[in-house]
Amino acid sequence: MKDFEYFAPKTTEESLSLLSQYKGEAKIIAGGQSMLVVMRQGLLAPEYVVDIKGISALDYITYDEREGLRMGSLTTHRAIEKSQVIQRHFGVLSEMEKNLATIQTRNWGTMGGNLCHGDPAGDPATVLIVLDAKLKLKSLSGERMVAVERFSKDILEVDLELDEMLIEIQVPALMPHTGVAHEKLMVMKGDAGIVGAAVSIHLKPGDGVCEDACIVISNAASVPLRVREAEKRLIGKVINDQLLTEAGEAASAEADPPSDVHASAEYRKEMIKVFVRRAAARALENARSIEGG
Ligand SMILES: Cc1cc2nc3c(=O)[nH]c(=O)nc-3n(C[C@H](O)[C@H](O)[C@H](O)COP(=O)(O)OP(=O)(O)OC[C@H]3O[C@@H](n4cnc5c(N)ncnc54)[C@H](O)[C@@H]3O)c2cc1C
Repeated sequence: MKDFEYFAPKTTEESLSLLSQYKGEAKIIAGGQSMLVVMRQGLLAPEYVVDIKGISALDYITYDEREGLRMGSLTTHRAIEKSQVIQRHFGVLSEMEKNLATIQTRNWGTMGGNLCHGDPAGDPATVLIVLDAKLKLKSLSGERMVAVERFSKDILEVDLELDEMLIEIQVPALMPHTGVAHEKLMVMKGDAGIVGAAVSIHLKPGDGVCEDACIVISNAASVPLRVREAEKRLIGKVINDQLLTEAGEAASAEADPPSDVHASAEYRKEMIKVFVRRAAARALENARSIEGG
């Protein structure tokens, strides 16, 4: 690994000043779970490394009905998995985290780092997109918000300026009669997914018609992929087994997954059918059980 100069600022402002001063030459490190891998592989060789892990002000989880869920960018995967507030209001997030990597990686890796790494195989972005989450980004010149759905640009490329930091992840409170689920195909528990699927389904109270659906798949394209044709198979209908199968097939047709040592593109396409169907069936069940009180 190439030598670099190391900084360990204790505030966001100090970190932003360093990013601005060494713009283009400095890189943030949080938990290092992805960053160190790409540095060791020689894909990244920053002159300056800004270690933000010590900024306690960026490590928090809050929830209220009006503001929804707010997580500081340094919230670890393990904290999300274990948070009682998240388990109560966004069970799908803690469930997703339980299947993300090993406990060691979840203890160090952060939600902010996972999203900024921009890996299309990553799990959190799919779930956050179906939850309609937004990101607060900050630089010395100000703040801006961006939807998680628009954050990923390409493989390992996100909508983040060289002098910007991700500060907070914001998730609106779930509407009543909404069910959400995440499923991923792992060779072993904690493996990066061969494919993954997150689904949210909103039912009209009373007649059980699907008013809205959002389906996002991982490791299926160069970014977390929202599959709108699959969503159309469900919206406006009383969902049954046939429609769930059609949604899976439509998602597979929209996907353009990679072939690699873990799986061929053809296999991934077959598995997308299964995992979208499975996640949609569980989301539907959750929406119905909420509807039933
Ligand atoms: C063995 C192993 C298994 C894994 N399995 C999975 C899995 O199953 N599913 C999954 O989704 N991921 C998995 N990962 C990936 C990993 O968990 C995440 O990518 C990790 O959580 C990244 O967080 P971090 O804090 O370590 O980020 P770092 O590695 O420190 O940083 C990652 C990137 O984000 C940038 N960054 C970090 N924080 C900020 C910020 N606040 N603002 C701006 N830029 C920032 C860094 O500059 C860097 O480019 C696995 C990793 C390992 C090592």
